[in-house]
Amino acid sequence: VTGSCTLIRTDDLKLLVDCGLFQGPKVLEELNRQSFGFDPSEIDFVLLTHAHIDHSGRIPKLVKDGFKGSIICTSATADLLDIMLKDSGHIQEMEAEWQTRKNLRAGLPPQQPLYTVQDAEEAMKHVQPVLYGQIISLNDRVTVRFADAGHILGSAIIELWIREGQRTTKLVFSGDLGSQDRPIIRNPEIIDGADLVIMESTYGDRLHQNPSTDMKRFLNIINDTCRRGGTVVIPSFAVGRTQEIIYELNKYYDHFEKVEVDEFLSIPVYIDSPLAVSATNIFKRHSDCFNTEARDFILKGDNPLEFPKLKLVKTVEESKALNEDTGSKIIISASGMCDAGRIKHHLKHNLWREESSIVFVGYQAQGTLGRIIKDGAPSVKIYGEEIAVRADIHSLEGFSAHADQKGLLDWIGAMKHKPKKVFLVHGEQDALDTLAGLLREQQGLDV
Ligand code: ZN
Repeated sequence: VTGSCTLIRTDDLKLLVDCGLFQGPKVLEELNRQSFGFDPSEIDFVLLTHAHIDHSGRIPKLVKDGFKGSIICTSATADLLDIMLKDSGHIQEMEAEWQTRKNLRAGLPPQQPLYTVQDAEEAMKHVQPVLYGQIISLNDRVTVRFADAGHILGSAIIELWIREGQRTTKLVFSGDLGSQDRPIIRNPEIIDGADLVIMESTYGDRLHQNPSTDMKRFLNIINDTCRRGGTVVIPSFAVGRTQEIIYELNKYYDHFEKVEVDEFLSIPVYIDSPLAVSATNIFKRHSDCFNTEARDFILKGDNPLEFPKLKLVKTVEESKALNEDTGSKIIISASGMCDAGRIKHHLKHNLWREESSIVFVGYQAQGTLGRIIKDGAPSVKIYGEEIAVRADIHSLEGFSAHADQKGLLDWIGAMKHKPKKVFLVHGEQDALDTLAGLLREQQGLDV
């Protein structure tokens, strides 16, 4: 599900769609250091579907290894990419420093970072932002258009027309597809048709809960935890999920919607992730990408990403202070799969507390700390310390930024011109197999 990267060779161009980082267990992360399997200096364009690091995180390495072309993406993606790649560069530097100390003690050579913050800044010079719907000619035979994928701010489905001789072939990359009626952003656009479709399959074998049922459960979990005097810890992707949770909570905290039990309205909500704070500011600048409901809030004079109980945590000291104060609160922190970042400290301080709750609101890839906790491990190791898991563990997949099985089937089924061939990518084996079977049986597609 991570490390998205597709190479397209036409008669005279070499294009990449996405250039993502592998994330998860060590064996997978080691793939990041291997060569790309093509020569980066020969690539003319990178077409980027969205800013998530599993789709964009190897771009600085691509540039470092010789890429000289342009990176084309929507302007919201360009803004998010800037903060995400720098953040990723910072993480790479820290990890290399830690590994180097370990290596030196073992008499081994130092470890070089995969790339640095400076490499990320260099990569950003290649970015060329475009508008949704704009027709972009890469040369006189290849054109591209970005349509809204409804997955995160700026996310896109990529339509690509390639003329070779007399024949034009249309490729469509779904990118990560959003589900219907998500907070803040619009629904994924329906595409007319294509010759070849390359589609994600993350939830190809699952259906999501209805988001409104999940919201009710979410509020109940917060209330129960609040009554027990515990803390609600929400591991969340800094970009996308965090803003959606703020947006949903804003409706209650700012009293646009009534709830039966509302003790939670007295407790503070902390966003403890510098990246999430910067991303929230970028969201505020791109209300042009918002759906009607979110725009209506703005027209009514309410900023849907702000309410008085919402506190943005900036410094490490402020973050540490959160764990010294044991009063009830909600902490939203990154990384979403609990492998890095401040969330690890909050888990360390709350997993063992029976009165606390951990609420997963996003996909947890195999091998990640998040997945291990979600799968019911009785204890986990965090920063070398064994931590008992006594807190309530919940998983709310209705918040997912990915379309579920029905969403994926509906999206491709709505194409007027059926694709000649479909390639399923970006899914674990069961999801790929199940979705492939359904597309063959129900829609008669060649998968
Ligand atoms: Zn994504």
